[in-house]
Amino acid sequence: MAAPDDKIRCDACPVLCYIRPGMTGACDRYANRNGELVRVDPHVLLERTVRDGGEIVPFMSPAREWSGGIVNAPVPIVTAIGAGTTYPDYKPAPFIVSSKIDGVDMVTVVTEGIYSYCGVKLKIDTDRHLGAECATVRAKGEPVGHVTTGEYGSQMLSLGGVNHLTHGGKKEGRVTCETLLDLCNRKAVELTVDGGASVIVTAGKPPVINGHTEERMRVGCGSAAIGMFAKQWYGKVDEVVVVDDHITGVLSEHQAGKLLGARDTGIKLKGRRSTPGRYFHVAEPGTGWGGANISDPLQIVAGFDAKVAWPGLTMLMVSTTGEQYAFYRLDESLKPIEAPLPENLRVSVERVSENCEPALCSVLFMGGAGGSLRAGVTENPVRLTRSVRQALTTVTAGGAPVVVWPGGGITFMVDVMLLPDNAFGYVPTPAIVAPIEFTMRLDDYAALGGHVDHVRPVGDILAQRAKTAAGVGAISAPARSEP
Ligand code: SF4
Repeated sequence: MAAPDDKIRCDACPVLCYIRPGMTGACDRYANRNGELVRVDPHVLLERTVRDGGEIVPFMSPAREWSGGIVNAPVPIVTAIGAGTTYPDYKPAPFIVSSKIDGVDMVTVVTEGIYSYCGVKLKIDTDRHLGAECATVRAKGEPVGHVTTGEYGSQMLSLGGVNHLTHGGKKEGRVTCETLLDLCNRKAVELTVDGGASVIVTAGKPPVINGHTEERMRVGCGSAAIGMFAKQWYGKVDEVVVVDDHITGVLSEHQAGKLLGARDTGIKLKGRRSTPGRYFHVAEPGTGWGGANISDPLQIVAGFDAKVAWPGLTMLMVSTTGEQYAFYRLDESLKPIEAPLPENLRVSVERVSENCEPALCSVLFMGGAGGSLRAGVTENPVRLTRSVRQALTTVTAGGAPVVVWPGGGITFMVDVMLLPDNAFGYVPTPAIVAPIEFTMRLDDYAALGGHVDHVRPVGDILAQRAKTAAGVGAISAPARSEP
């Protein structure tokens, strides 16, 4: 709608910006171009990307049997990236596109959803302790999430969510939104954990923890490492301890060592013995050996039983990444004395490192499309949810496959590495804008009460695209009613 002073009002989100000619709105997604409201980023059609030699990721397996898969067919793939948003939600989605695939009429409904209920799950491949579970994670000093349960070789953070976006102060909401946006668009973000570490996270890149770039994730826990490499150690050294904050392994006691015939060494470790050769909690969590708070591995050794051990007994201690190792020989008083690592053990230590995968940060966006966004697809939103449940409708985000959680609503997760660059945006409400596409058979779309009057053939989209100047603002969203 044109305002008296030539500003136009954008009604694509609740902010309802007035935008001057030649300017963009608060989110930089919409602009006033000669009195017309346009979406400033190009609408991503993957056919064009492929033709122009752009990089895309495979987002559905060709082997997948779903005949309605929008990528298996030689037709343009209409993503929601740059498609625009409609607000309020009862308006039909910006693009409802029909195409024929293997003789079947299909429809893809695309929209850039505005998510107040969203966040990211971060998987940070490192043994280093980032902070206690439930500890607050901050960006620019503001609380944006917390440490959640660790996984195998990785620390996990849960950031964002509606509480940080809406319940904290204005600054907390703004910084949370900015943090999520940067992480989803694969930019570097510095986070600090209360009582823990500082970490720079970039999707697809190694984490930088307290200024140290992590190179490798662990080969396994200490016990697993004993199991994997026992044969390479047996006969070359009397004892091996794989130091791990969680499960430290001891070769002579471990089942792997027993089966090979390893001799008892009488070693006594601190911590709690779980099962033979597997010790829990040998130290506190930290950023030293095996994710424990130790820089000297002997800190976890309580001593040797004089009735069993012998002077000259050899012992290798190694961390779960092979990054740290030390070799010892017991003196006459059964005290371990460090000695150079024998050549025949060097290979096994290198083998531990070789078996570690590169440490990376993974960012999964998680959002709930279970609410009003569905009204842009159908007049009876619950039918869309049911259709997704029944696998009649495929959900993608920017063309990438998503994991839809069981239960109510359409709560999904997507790996941000699978989306094209800058696929995510924001609005200052604050909320994250993320692409979402629903693809189904046209007759199923009609059956679930879809906005069939707004279906446009894919050829129309391409024709409109061809008419506009290449690049920016190529396709404007459909006309909107006045607020
Ligand atoms: S912030 Fe909302 S109203 Fe303002 S330009 Fe962006 S989408 Fe439009």
